[in-house]
Amino acid sequence: MNMQFSKVDQAIIQWIEDHKEDVVGFLQELIQIPSVNPWFNPKEGESREAEVQGVIRKRMEGMGAEVKQWEPSAEALAKYAGRPGYYADHKFEGRPNQAAVLKGTGGGKSLLLTGHVDVVPAASGWTMEPFKGERLDGAVYGRGAVDMKGGIAAMVMALEAVVKSGYQLKGDVIVGTVVDEEAGGMGTLDFVDKGYRADACILTESTDMKIAPLCRGILWGKLVITGRSGHIELPQGDWREGGAVDAIGLARVFMDHFDRLNADWHVRKVHPYLPLPCQVYIAQINAGEYPTAFANQAELVFNAQYLPREKDENGLGSRVKAEIEAFVASVAQTEEWLRENPPKIEWLIDADCGETPVSDPFVQENLGNLEKHDIKEIIEGVCAHTDLGWFEELGIPTVVIGAGNPRVAHQNDEFVLEKDLIKLTKYIATLITHWAQISD
Ligand SMILES: [Zn+2]
Repeated sequence: MNMQFSKVDQAIIQWIEDHKEDVVGFLQELIQIPSVNPWFNPKEGESREAEVQGVIRKRMEGMGAEVKQWEPSAEALAKYAGRPGYYADHKFEGRPNQAAVLKGTGGGKSLLLTGHVDVVPAASGWTMEPFKGERLDGAVYGRGAVDMKGGIAAMVMALEAVVKSGYQLKGDVIVGTVVDEEAGGMGTLDFVDKGYRADACILTESTDMKIAPLCRGILWGKLVITGRSGHIELPQGDWREGGAVDAIGLARVFMDHFDRLNADWHVRKVHPYLPLPCQVYIAQINAGEYPTAFANQAELVFNAQYLPREKDENGLGSRVKAEIEAFVASVAQTEEWLRENPPKIEWLIDADCGETPVSDPFVQENLGNLEKHDIKEIIEGVCAHTDLGWFEELGIPTVVIGAGNPRVAHQNDEFVLEKDLIKLTKYIATLITHWAQISD
């Protein structure tokens, strides 16, 4: 064992070594309860977030934690209209949030360990059973294995390792498990609205054990371009005299211009801790109605990412929306038809982001902890959205770190390697003992 570990840490790590089967078994138990977010219209009996909370509750109560459960309410959260994570139409009957507080003896720093209990649907193409938690060749398979029941299993078992090894902590540790992340993050909004705070926060979405002190904001928009239909095989003449205007041709004009915008963003919208620049990517093209007419209308559904430094005063991406709108308007100025029939953007989603500076003591604490575990110290932000924005907004330094390759999230045959799960459990355990501190 690495001699950089204190006697206490050595004992706790040994406990985890001796209870690997319990850690894996707990993850299997979580996967075996399908907890598909109801936004995706899951199959009958697959929307059981409450039962997952119940299993976590039992485990946390076994450690002496005080557990509270409640159902969020869109009505009670209406004061957050226009802020991240608020959706007026989301329903929470039978979908509780949960906070399990393990009280410290006093004097240490508090820590929030958080994650979401909902998952996306299994969808087609699995060769394994999506809700069985099957083990094969050192991996656990199933929906949620990395996103993010693996992360939840590790945080709960890390705390259990500390407690069952016979140690008490000075600082409070809160295990906050929320619903509804996969459909916009309203569970976390509700969680912080209930007043839960800590001196630091760990969010265990998978990062392949990289330290992610930031994530990107995500905008979904639909650019609607109007043309004028007309027989595609016949002469049309000038549109000013009633001729057709091909909306697909106009869509191509916009796509070419987006390439130009992306070349600019490629240089301008970069971050030293992100592997990708922000771009506007076309995700869907909807155009045309039948084979003998020019398209009357074309829709380009796009995904644009934004950096934490681009957030507006509400914590959202309105500045970047305005930038894209101005760009589209400037392209429209280049064609007479477009000047007279300006395209419109419908905004579909604005998922927020956040960033804790690398110089923050909690990020540094995490880097030191990685070193102790002989894990390569890599700082790399999450290119997608995570729920870290609200914690960061409230001044809680937050780091995302989790086991497994994030790329297998939302894929069929999602899996996490057992050794990675155990590695994360040990990592969190020693982070807890150093941040919240062991009571003498
Ligand atoms: Zn997730």
